[in-house]
Amino acid sequence: MSAPDTRLPVASTREVRRYAARLTRHHPRLLWTAVTLHVLAALAGLAAPRLLGDLVQSVQEGTTTAHVDEIMLALAGFLLVATVLTRYARYVSQVLGEQVLAELREDFVGNALALPVGVVESAGSGDLLTRTSRDVDQLGWSVRMALPEWTIAVITAVVTFVAAISVGWWVALPCVLGVPPLVIGLRWYLARAKDGYLRESASYSAINATLTETVEGARTVEALGTGEERIRAIDTDIDESYRAERYTLYLRTVFFPNMEISYLIPTVATLLFGGWLYTQGQVSLGDVTAATLYVQMLIDPVDRIVSILDELQIGAASLARLLGVAQVPDDREVSGAEPDGEDLAATDVRFSYVEGRDVLHGVDLVVGVGERVAMVGPSGAGKSTLGRLLAGIHPPRTGSVTVGGVGLTELPLDDLRGHVALVTQEHHVFVGTLRENLALAAPPGAVDDDIRGALAAVDALDWVDALPDGLDTVVGSGGRAVTAPQAQQIALARLVLADPHTLVLDEATSLIDPRAARHLERSLAAVLEGRTVIAIAHRLFSAHDADRVAVVEDGRISELGSHDELVAAGGSYAALWDSWHGRG
Ligand code: ADP
Repeated sequence: MSAPDTRLPVASTREVRRYAARLTRHHPRLLWTAVTLHVLAALAGLAAPRLLGDLVQSVQEGTTTAHVDEIMLALAGFLLVATVLTRYARYVSQVLGEQVLAELREDFVGNALALPVGVVESAGSGDLLTRTSRDVDQLGWSVRMALPEWTIAVITAVVTFVAAISVGWWVALPCVLGVPPLVIGLRWYLARAKDGYLRESASYSAINATLTETVEGARTVEALGTGEERIRAIDTDIDESYRAERYTLYLRTVFFPNMEISYLIPTVATLLFGGWLYTQGQVSLGDVTAATLYVQMLIDPVDRIVSILDELQIGAASLARLLGVAQVPDDREVSGAEPDGEDLAATDVRFSYVEGRDVLHGVDLVVGVGERVAMVGPSGAGKSTLGRLLAGIHPPRTGSVTVGGVGLTELPLDDLRGHVALVTQEHHVFVGTLRENLALAAPPGAVDDDIRGALAAVDALDWVDALPDGLDTVVGSGGRAVTAPQAQQIALARLVLADPHTLVLDEATSLIDPRAARHLERSLAAVLEGRTVIAIAHRLFSAHDADRVAVVEDGRISELGSHDELVAAGGSYAALWDSWHGRG
């Protein structure tokens, strides 16, 4: 049992660029305000070297204290203006960043929720978890910090370079000298960085997957004595992660020193070249001072451009992984056809979780409106799988599952849930009040009376009323703890509120003690009168109460009929009933 491979796709660089461009186009006004403010702030910051150059020049030529004071005052003034402009420029950039981030998160949640359940299961929860936590954080950091900083740095660099050139064209020459080592270093690094960081993220996903699996399956691990094996699996994952991190560290240790040297070259060259031109009487001392200061000033933005590029790469890798989630092909094909009636029919249904290993081998079942069918059979026979197919969670590999003649996976999800709903042993209590937890399944406009009615139908009204805050009690993580049977009742009450025509109950009452369960099922039955119910049952009394019983064995329906018919037929059901009845 090793961590599953990362199965969720990763978007290509082109798709990431296109998406990023689309996002920025959503807020043209904010974007241009931010850029304009940054340009103005950079311009105000550029006055200093020119003024200092003038100062050197006038000191050389002989000047008055009054003139020096004037220059200092002007310096202070420009500094103040630059500070105020920078403040607003950053403010606007932050607002823009938060909006873009909010849209990204919404898109991602939308994409993640649209994932076919089968894909979520086979990709393992680790990958999706890493994407929702680490990648979203990483991208948040990029959008909040890296992207605005980078934009500011680019603007500052361009404006500073223009200012340097304005001192004299000769300044371009020393600047150009720094370009080749910079470009070569960057190309070397960027060619390797993306894959390096993708590998790093994938290795975190693997660790996450192995750890979550081990913790979630701790009892199984203990029972089977596979602890050693799990430790080995985690060691392998950590080893891979260590290698991936070492590789990116290597990239940085080559790249950054290379950059430092590229920065120093232009400053040194400006000073030497300018000094030579001065001795030739070509330029003034003030020009050389201003030029050297401008070129020196270029180092900071260029360095930020380059080092933030690194952060942006990590952000882009995260974005590629987040966008990849949207590329999972949908397993539903909405056709727009309207179901005629509510008859549920499975025809020659075959299904496999793993390619080449069918777990259902040609199941036929027609359930009429208002009929109650119980599904029984040994564990692993395929009951839950059939239940999931009948509820439209998975499409069948071949064959069809239809309601009113329309394939379940052809119906839009929202419509489907009005026809068929599934309740299993797994149910989630969301953080919020009990009322909110129930109302999320209710049709719009449902009032407390409807909610209380649903709670009464699942025998839960007593304990809810006993809570000091009643329906206002906050439950879910951090709130009041509800027991597993109570959570199951909440799930069932949601179902009553959602009121679909057909319900598939997969051991939906298994956590509730048998006596209470029987009572619950009877009260549910009263509420669900006229609804079609397919109940997967461990307890045979539900089978006894059903209109028909389907015995599922080895991926097939081996017996189908009423309780009495099957008992009389003397097959597997009769044997099952005998042993259960004898025991009970
Ligand atoms: P039952 O509900 O009758 O106990 P299931 O429908 O849960 O049976 O399982 C039928 C078969 O499908 C079993 O062999 C089981 O191991 C396999 N199976 C169930 N769920 C999955 C899954 N998510 N991935 C792969 N195999 C699965």
